[in-house]
Amino acid sequence: MMRPPDTANSPEGEDPVTGDPATDEVLAEVTRWLDEEFPLGDGVAEDTSVVICPYCGEPNEIGLDAGSGEEQEYIEDCQVCCQPWQVVVHYLPDGSADVTVTPADGD
Ligand SMILES: [Zn+2]
Repeated sequence: MMRPPDTANSPEGEDPVTGDPATDEVLAEVTRWLDEEFPLGDGVAEDTSVVICPYCGEPNEIGLDAGSGEEQEYIEDCQVCCQPWQVVVHYLPDGSADVTVTPADGD
């Protein structure tokens, strides 16, 4: 896309789009912030996972709530056989989810 030259505020004549050191600095700052903060909730975290039911052996796609924390544990029923699972979700730093389901019938 063409844009008119904009050198009025750039005495060195640097390209304001690709060569602006201030923009690079902001991007580096944002990248540092993302690295430091838990990356969930910004669109990179997995929000679904496929697990195998420990009762009937059928694959189930379950929804994950990345905003609920890095470590989660809850009860969810199998969509096929309706048996209760103990679901353990562990989010990794890259936003991927490690999901484990085990029988939760308690008997
Ligand atoms: Zn099942």
